[in-house]
Amino acid sequence: MALPEPSRIPGGLAQPAGRVYNFNGGPAALPLPVLEEAAAELLNWRGTGMSILENSHRDKKVVAMALEAEDDLKSLLRLGEDWKVLFLQGGASLQFAMIPMNFAPDGLPCDYVNTGMWSDKAYKEARLVGADARLAASSEDDGFTYIPDSFSFRLASRYVYLTSNNTVRGTQWKAFPSRPPAPLVADMSSDFLSRPLDLTDFALVHAGAQKNVAPAGLTIVLVRKDFALNGKKGLPHLLDYRTYIDSDSMYNTPPVFCIYVAGLVFKWLKAQGGLDRVCLRNEAKAKRLYDAIDSSGGFYRGTAREDSRSLMNVTYRLPSPELEKKFLEEGKAQGLCGLGGHRSVGGVRASIYNAVPDAGVDALIAFMKDFQAANG
Ligand SMILES: *Cc1c(COP(=O)(O)O)cnc(C)c1O
Repeated sequence: MALPEPSRIPGGLAQPAGRVYNFNGGPAALPLPVLEEAAAELLNWRGTGMSILENSHRDKKVVAMALEAEDDLKSLLRLGEDWKVLFLQGGASLQFAMIPMNFAPDGLPCDYVNTGMWSDKAYKEARLVGADARLAASSEDDGFTYIPDSFSFRLASRYVYLTSNNTVRGTQWKAFPSRPPAPLVADMSSDFLSRPLDLTDFALVHAGAQKNVAPAGLTIVLVRKDFALNGKKGLPHLLDYRTYIDSDSMYNTPPVFCIYVAGLVFKWLKAQGGLDRVCLRNEAKAKRLYDAIDSSGGFYRGTAREDSRSLMNVTYRLPSPELEKKFLEEGKAQGLCGLGGHRSVGGVRASIYNAVPDAGVDALIAFMKDFQAANG
């Protein structure tokens, strides 16, 4: 596919007419070159005379496309043969149940770190399906504004569960617990592929694709094969990871279009030089935005503790709810969309995922300065 030079993706390039800067939390921005590629080959995908939306998942070219996406993802993450990439449905939320059903069945122990709404849901779901889930740490005591650094893990725990990036609260793990007593399992929905990953201590990673990878409808799971093979036997097929491993995620009809777009995104990330380069860009984008917040003399106030700030979801407040409302309305009128905080917390949230261009962040910062000058 025709990709712009990495340094020109797409920061500095003008948005095509009518397109806004999209700061949605999810479903969220997709890379412009990927959308253009998908549009260009929509009516006749790879010479099949039909669109990817209409092709059978048993078609050789579709099977090859899905395997290629899997390979590209493995190469981006430098995953070895002991890992398997799975393409599922049901969202990150179904993983909240599937993980304990497979790995802490029949009342077995598992430890959770509660850093906000999504980890809380995962923890409660584990209890609902009968796992002996306990909290090893929580940042609820300070409104989920930070990532804990001390944990009371149980030695018998089957896994330790955490949420790498807290989409609602704007916090992110910088380093994961060292020497955990059990393999780590992580929900990486909102920072998957935003930075390189050392998966040495991990057994499973899951991510709803609609934040940083692809359209809604696809959940990506990375699982260590030996861990999956030792899971609970006798579960319904679609709830058993082995089903997806054995069938290369084609036991039943997978979300073909989402896998296809994810595959284009993987190629786009590779063309930029891989996750190290992508991470540098994300750090630079986030730094500019946090600097703008911190240098506003208190007009804009970041909600997360500085050492726990997310590079993906930048959450902040204005002096009053009225000003926040005005900020969101005027921003939207200027083509800066999706800046409202999660409905459970309010405020402002700029989700600056991989696909949000440098120019979008710069446009937001310029707007913030103008808005403060007019209302500060
Ligand atoms: C959005 C989100 C979810 C929920 O994802 P669904 O695909 O809607 O189930 C779970 N965890 C995190 C961290 C999220 O950002």
